[in-house]
Amino acid sequence: MKQFVVIGLGRFGSSVATTLAEADFDVLAIDQNQERVQGIANKVTHAVEADATDEEALKTLGVRNFDVAVVSIGDNVSANILCTLILKELKVPYVIVKAPDALHGKVLTKVGADRVVYPERDMGVRIAHNLISSNVLDYIEFAPEYGVIEIIATDKMIGKTLQDLEFRSKFNVNVMAIKRGENLNVSPGAGDKILEGDRLVVIGKNESLDQLKNFDH
Ligand code: ATP
Ligand code: ATP
Ligand code: CA
Repeated sequence: MKQFVVIGLGRFGSSVATTLAEADFDVLAIDQNQERVQGIANKVTHAVEADATDEEALKTLGVRNFDVAVVSIGDNVSANILCTLILKELKVPYVIVKAPDALHGKVLTKVGADRVVYPERDMGVRIAHNLISSNVLDYIEFAPEYGVIEIIATDKMIGKTLQDLEFRSKFNVNVMAIKRGENLNVSPGAGDKILEGDRLVVIGKNESLDQLKNFDH
């Protein structure tokens, strides 16, 4: 069973910590703010008040024995960076850090962060895609220029099979799943027909996905 240490208990950090704890993982939650620590104490394995930039304090807490560290100390960029550096020097195998923007993300990667996340930016992108096309329910960036979208079947798709629609050959995208009410077809093939109200999960290049979204026009 993996053990997690979560440092910085704002909305993001506490959400990560309590979700892991609810899934029965061992979670050590750390913050320098006493109220934040108290607020989470009965939801995680251990909650401790400490300064995340104090190497000795992190050593004493046995942080080096954890498999994964999640760092989210808000807009305090220098603390984010220093803490990440200490965790990697203590040889924590996997350190994930929440960054406010790409520039700080770059620095975090340079000091050893194994993964940098930008939840505010990513959620903004997803919401915007949803607003731009009313049939797009969700968008996830999968790699630069590639994404996964969930769309509601457009009128032109209804009653047609994947073969009829020639998604692969025409749009160079793959339909990964078709959701119909409660039913999920996770390996749709050429003969599967799209019905009204179906939701399609499609992977492809962003420009191809854009074409697909406008398939009705
Ligand atoms: P949110 O998801 O709420 O936006 P956030 O990480 O952006 O979260 P904050 O609400 O500022 O932002 O949360 C940062 C947390 O990190 C606070 O609880 C703060 O007490 C804690 N923190 C800041 N500096 C340190 C530090 N040096 N050591 C430990 N905790 C710290
Ligand atoms: P291909 O070489 O494109 O895989 P195929 O004849 O081997 O073609 P079939 O599984 O028979 O593949 O599908 C015929 C056509 O139906 C495909 O070329 C493609 O346009 C479409 N198709 C089938 N399954 C999917 C899918 N999951 N997503 C998108 N298009 C599909
Ligand atoms: Ca914030």
